[in-house]
Amino acid sequence: MDNATQRDIYQQFHRTQRNTENVINTAPLGICITNPQGQFELVNPAYCEFYGYREEELLGQHFTMVVPQAYRATMSDLHDLFVEGEDTQELRQEWEVRCKNGEVRTIIAEAARIEGDDGAPRKVTFIVDITQRKQLEERLKQANERLDHIAHHDELTGLLNRRAGLQRLEQELRRSSRYGSPLSVAMFDLDNFKAFNDTHGHSVGDKILEEVTATVNQTLRDTDVQIRLGGEEFLVIMPEVNAEDAKLAMERVRRVVSQTPFTQHALTVTLSAGVASYIEASTTRLLDRADKAMYQAKQSGRDRVLIASSL
Ligand code: GH3
Ligand code: MG
Ligand code: MG
Repeated sequence: MDNATQRDIYQQFHRTQRNTENVINTAPLGICITNPQGQFELVNPAYCEFYGYREEELLGQHFTMVVPQAYRATMSDLHDLFVEGEDTQELRQEWEVRCKNGEVRTIIAEAARIEGDDGAPRKVTFIVDITQRKQLEERLKQANERLDHIAHHDELTGLLNRRAGLQRLEQELRRSSRYGSPLSVAMFDLDNFKAFNDTHGHSVGDKILEEVTATVNQTLRDTDVQIRLGGEEFLVIMPEVNAEDAKLAMERVRRVVSQTPFTQHALTVTLSAGVASYIEASTTRLLDRADKAMYQAKQSGRDRVLIASSL
């Protein structure tokens, strides 16, 4: 090989190396190389800019300096396993990382194992910032949850609304019919409620509805489900409860409500209720019987609980 050819090869080699360096330096995604001990050997400008560190602040440091404290030990172990491992050549994972200013961001890191010029393995990691996408996903998720909640709940009392409540009743009926377990419902309606609105105004009426709901919920079991059917009419589903016990429970509710002063006006409110227990797999029939018993309770003087089956 003459001198001219050698010089050509030499120049060609350096041009290739410069090109590679330029690519790494101008790459829009963060790139770092870590040695088997987990220390930074190379960080490109996009990497430095993303984390807010200068190159010299990172080089030689252990990579876990950009990892939140809680994940440091795990990440360090994963790094060592990956660098030493033989099977996994590549790794793509989502991580939370910490920038110099303390800000926690989410990245997707893709890693590959490469061989260093000393023959020892290195880990090269490419990072993409997905913080905004994550935040957007989180906001969408919350918005969906809110919509879902609005669709199934009554705004004033926070109870299940009629549609969601009746669906729930269908479910409970199916379960009860499958396992042969008892199931009762109580329908109740506030007595002479129109008069409260007429005397104290609609907003006091609303407040009564909210407070009565809370009182009823506190008096019922956790497994009972209270539903606002509409207006001042409610349904309680009592799984695993027979008619007698449902009547006792509703009697307790009736008594507590009638003894509780509601709103700043300390108003006394009573309710009339009809209790029905599951006989056949029809929600309409079950509700009809509870409704009739409730009507009967109204007819016979209000502020009482009647069982449908005993009528
Ligand atoms: P009864 O003992 O027969 O049930 O008499 P009532 O006055 O309660 O019955 P009625 O059905 O005649 O009136 C129900 C009233 O409940 C009508 C309305 O003024 C009131 N009401 C229904 N929904 C709401 C509500 O969301 N907020 C308020 N403030 N009032 C409501
Ligand atoms: Mg009423
Ligand atoms: Mg009513």
